[in-house]
Amino acid sequence: MSDPAVEVKLEVKQASKEVKESENVAEKYSAMTVSKNSEMNMGDLSSAFSAVPTHKPVKKQIQFVEDKQEFSRFPTKAGRRSLSRSISQSSTDSYSSAASYTDSSDDETSPRDKTQVNSKGSSDFCVKNIKQAEFGRREIEIAEQDMTALISLRKRAQSEKPLAGAKIVGCTHITAQTAVLIETLVALGAQCRWTACNIYSTQNEVAAALSETGVAVFAWKGESEDDFWWCIDRCVNNEGWQPNMILDDGGDLTHWMYKKYPNVFKKIRGIVEESVTGVHRLYQLSKAGKLCVPAMNVNDSVTKQKFDNLYCCRESILDGLKRTTDVMFGGKQVVICGYGEVGKGCCAALKALGSVVSITEIDPICALQACMDGFRVVKLNEVIRQVDVIITCTGNKNVVTRDQLDRMKNGSIVCNMGHSNTEIDVASLRTPELTWERVRSQVDHVIWPDGKRVILLAEGRLLNLSCSTVPTFVLSITATTQALALIELYNAPEGRYKQDVYLLPKKMDEYVASLHLTTFDAHLTELSDDQAKYLGLNKNGPFKPNYYRY
Ligand code: NAD
Repeated sequence: MSDPAVEVKLEVKQASKEVKESENVAEKYSAMTVSKNSEMNMGDLSSAFSAVPTHKPVKKQIQFVEDKQEFSRFPTKAGRRSLSRSISQSSTDSYSSAASYTDSSDDETSPRDKTQVNSKGSSDFCVKNIKQAEFGRREIEIAEQDMTALISLRKRAQSEKPLAGAKIVGCTHITAQTAVLIETLVALGAQCRWTACNIYSTQNEVAAALSETGVAVFAWKGESEDDFWWCIDRCVNNEGWQPNMILDDGGDLTHWMYKKYPNVFKKIRGIVEESVTGVHRLYQLSKAGKLCVPAMNVNDSVTKQKFDNLYCCRESILDGLKRTTDVMFGGKQVVICGYGEVGKGCCAALKALGSVVSITEIDPICALQACMDGFRVVKLNEVIRQVDVIITCTGNKNVVTRDQLDRMKNGSIVCNMGHSNTEIDVASLRTPELTWERVRSQVDHVIWPDGKRVILLAEGRLLNLSCSTVPTFVLSITATTQALALIELYNAPEGRYKQDVYLLPKKMDEYVASLHLTTFDAHLTELSDDQAKYLGLNKNGPFKPNYYRY
């Protein structure tokens, strides 16, 4: 057995090594300033990038409870059944019933069967209705209002065109916010072809607006699974146009290219991946020695994890609960399973509404944090009969079991903010003795033989992504990180990035944050020379070692 004392020593040694490395990186980045007084421009950015030596890959092991997606499972044209096994979970998690304000139900014709042309005469796109472009444009303009950091990056860099020559294929949610990202990439010189990572989340009018400006978009809300892969293929397979960069969310586009177009895939300069699932797939490929291009893991950037997971959930949990249930949460007994980033956000929101919040945890550190924040830490079984609302946020499976659902009281609500649809054992509720009653979109009453009803939201899928919108400002943070990751990978001199998965340099994380500070008129304190020396830091950052937990 290993000696814990030795392990601690090793860890301390490792930690001090990381400080040294980050100091070196900071020195190399000294040309780049991110303080309030000295705004960084893209000239600085490029020189900062080119000054950085080959990065040592910073690998992060992500533990998965279960991974149902495999790269080896290649979808065929065999239709829905086989495709449904290979489609990623993210692509079937309904993103936002409220995301698209377009009622397209009156037009049942599949976009694949329509011939549409934009005002410039191009038909290189496939969207629900190109005539909605003007409406979509207004939505994009509204999103721009709260994405000022991304817009400022666009303005600073558009004369330099750091993405000139980049041919980016993208597979993300197609919403007003992603449109702002796509149009930023175009302003920076890239040519883009885009498809949706989720069959429900596309805002049809936004897809139309992008197609009208010349971005080749292949997506519509309510695609079949066959449509989903068809759209990806149309996006990639375009005569005379070979992609050299990938921006993916969920790994499906990467998977498709890797399997179907291996020769094109080999020539890709870099992949930027946003999701937990997609990043996991990339690490698997890398581990198997099959990843032949460099990839950037945006999911584990501090500016993604600490903002998307925590603050986004803090805002959107209530939106999702309110839209679906109209319930008053003040005084309600709420149990939140998991006190990680997502759980902390949900707890803060419900506590602020006056709910009586309890936590379940497996990890003593997170449990202690919950205690210190004033929450009771309980076992679900102990409180199951009294609880009004259960929200799962663990990333785990079977956190709420059929046995527990049997014991919940009449009218209680159960929903998930964590991992896909595995946290609540929804499958166990599909038995003959239980009746399912759909009472409104994304809201089911599951009725027991004695008349007891449990309210299940979004069939156990992510509540906020299924039933509410997500704050634009948070998406701006993630989108800015994605744009910088693309610029970095595209401009990196040969050899800086090998065939591996990398984290965005911390300096870039800090830059993304600094761009967003302007919104709040926040004024950063600058280190004096003396203070910088005392702390062993470069005055311009990075300000924390890689192991810092924030
Ligand atoms: P995290 O690892 O910080 O937190 C998860 C917590 O759950 C951990 O503290 C862990 O100890 C605890 N846990 C695990 N199994 C448990 C169990 N059986 N009972 C009680 N507690 C348990 O992760 P996170 O950043 O909070 O993300 C959680 C999940 O939410 C992930 O699946 C992530 O992909 C997802 N997520 C959702 C959104 C959203 O918008 N809804 C946003 C970001 C992430």
